Amino acid sequence: MQHYLNYIDNQWRDSSRQLTIMNPSTGEAYATIAQADIEDANLAMTSARRCVNQGLLTDVRPAQRLTWMLKAAEEIRKITEEAALVLCLENGKNLNTARDEFIEAARYFEYYAGIADKIEGISVPLGKDYINFTQYQPMGVSVQIVPWNFPVSICARSLAPALAAGNAVVVKSPEISPIAMTLLFKAIDKAGFPQGAVHLLCGKGSEIGTHLVKHSETDQIVFTGSVPTGQRILKDAAERATPSVMELGGKSAAIALADVDLDTLLSSVKSGIFYNAGQVCSAMSRLLVHHSRYEEVKKAVVDLAQGLSIGIGEYNPDLTPVVSKNQQQQILQMIESARQEGAAILTGGNAPDLDGYFVSPTIIEASHEMSIAQQEVFGPVLVIMPFNDEEQAIEMANGTDFGLVAGVFGEGLSQTLRVANKLIAGQIFINEWFAGGIETPFGGVGLSGFGREKGQEAIYSYVQTRNIGIRLR
Ligand code: NAD
Repeated sequence: MQHYLNYIDNQWRDSSRQLTIMNPSTGEAYATIAQADIEDANLAMTSARRCVNQGLLTDVRPAQRLTWMLKAAEEIRKITEEAALVLCLENGKNLNTARDEFIEAARYFEYYAGIADKIEGISVPLGKDYINFTQYQPMGVSVQIVPWNFPVSICARSLAPALAAGNAVVVKSPEISPIAMTLLFKAIDKAGFPQGAVHLLCGKGSEIGTHLVKHSETDQIVFTGSVPTGQRILKDAAERATPSVMELGGKSAAIALADVDLDTLLSSVKSGIFYNAGQVCSAMSRLLVHHSRYEEVKKAVVDLAQGLSIGIGEYNPDLTPVVSKNQQQQILQMIESARQEGAAILTGGNAPDLDGYFVSPTIIEASHEMSIAQQEVFGPVLVIMPFNDEEQAIEMANGTDFGLVAGVFGEGLSQTLRVANKLIAGQIFINEWFAGGIETPFGGVGLSGFGREKGQEAIYSYVQTRNIGIRLR
């Protein structure tokens, strides 16, 4: 079994404690990783502060940051094949999905490299006696806490714009699936960033996560993860009023209108809820169908679920295991509670007879108020419900505490747009789930969080505006 280390102050550091990482496809131990402690966290924070105070990322021409970032992207591309297999084995995800994570990570570095030298302020006209202008300053030391579902691409999603804007970054990887992130940092290490610019710590959220959040050198918190953890972090962040970006969970609904094209819908259902075994913040976890098409769509969706191939990630099946035994048991428990509440399990609802942490593709007919239609499951579980008219569909789609993604499927442009305009979510997809990319701003409203990642807009999550006024004499 290989042992992996933390990356602190440009060095790979071991620790007296370690975490064992399991392979979710076999349930066997896969690797070990040094478990960072408070001393490691303090070392990283001190080094990051020194980098900021010495202006190592900011007292250079912005084009220098661009160069480092492009080199990082080049190095990430070089390791993609080898590193994707590691991610596939430690996470259970498809090899193709794992590969895409590294490709996406490289793209984030390329995309934000292109912005590093274009973060421009504006001149504010105040009359002939003044010169007044704004500057975008980096936040300083950005602490970034990453979840396990897309550890590599989500890490790069926040790290790349933060570096482009001139912040030093301390990343905390998740306790589950942290190994591929160390490979990402091996590539970044070769890019030539200055001493202390980036750090990677793997450790317990309740220990070093909390410590980093409360640390006196933390200038910004970027958290991607569950709502309860986000709420806890916000309480801790309130002590020092630390600016935060929160990318939390979802219970996203797709609305299938009366004139929906069935094939278009089904291809989005497949990617929307079964991709990455449904462990996607923006998963299509609710499908609302016009009553006139309900029985037809219900049958087609059940057929789709029953026709999916299930297997281990290396063979790129339609459905892979979920990430851990704990996650598997939690999902099965939520399905059981739904059954007890009176929901109908149309297909799935159990663990197939396979080694590894699998959950069968599950379709549940429920009513809008039931917990299964309100709470994030984070697994391959779709709730399907009929609606009578447009108004009711909108009310149901907006009727959870979340607001990450929503979708509308239908042929009429006016109706799809009219419905889309009334949906409360950070992203609205019409006729294709996942109709976004690294170029499109992403984030939530309500319990799904605040702040934006991706696209040009994300750069404003990593800077603070400073205004300078000059009185002419
Ligand atoms: P989680 O909240 O359990 O953990 C996320 C990270 O927070 C981990 O690194 C963990 O160690 C750390 N952590 C835990 N307690 C902490 C504390 N008290 N202080 C500081 N850090 C702490 O989430 P998860 O199970 O890893 O990820 C799944 C969740 O993430 C889902 O709810 C999903 O919707 C959400 N998610 C959201 C997005 C988005 O962009 N909105 C993307 C991916 C995942």
